[in-house]
Amino acid sequence: MASPLTHIAVGYSLFRLARPRFPELTGAWKTVVLFCGALGVAVFVDADAVLGVLHHDLANYHNQQSHSLCAAAVVGIGVGLLGRALTGSGLGRWLTLGLAGTLSHVLIDFLTIGRGVQLFWPVTDARFASPLPLFYGLRWSEGVWSTSHLVTLANEIPIVAALLWQVHRKATRRAVKEVAKG
Ligand SMILES: [Zn+2]
Repeated sequence: MASPLTHIAVGYSLFRLARPRFPELTGAWKTVVLFCGALGVAVFVDADAVLGVLHHDLANYHNQQSHSLCAAAVVGIGVGLLGRALTGSGLGRWLTLGLAGTLSHVLIDFLTIGRGVQLFWPVTDARFASPLPLFYGLRWSEGVWSTSHLVTLANEIPIVAALLWQVHRKATRRAVKEVAKG
């Protein structure tokens, strides 16, 4: 699995990209709901890690059925419905945000070196991993102070920086266009 750094960066990017598409969310409360929703959907799939820590058995609790397209879609739709209920904003936009967040998480973990993800659960429990991985991944089993985490950071920081730079450029271009429109 990729580190939380990448998943959080994707969630923040989703927030930046979604923000102009929810112009009616002007109050602080609704902005916070959108921010937490975008970040939440990007990392929520890893909530199963909490069970793994509590049971001292990360391997058997984390990255199981939760990391499938089916489960991710269900969570994404659930978050979309919750966002709609809390803010009253368009259901379609919330569903898009929810699905983009959860499915991006599964895709990122699919692109990570490791045991892969149960992509097509419940049809099959088989694990699938990209033949061309993009992420080195975080090796929890090697402990908190493992030097392998430095490799993880060296791999993910440039990718995250490139993503945030692209999102920033897109948001800036959009803001300039809005100003020009008056
Ligand atoms: Zn994950």
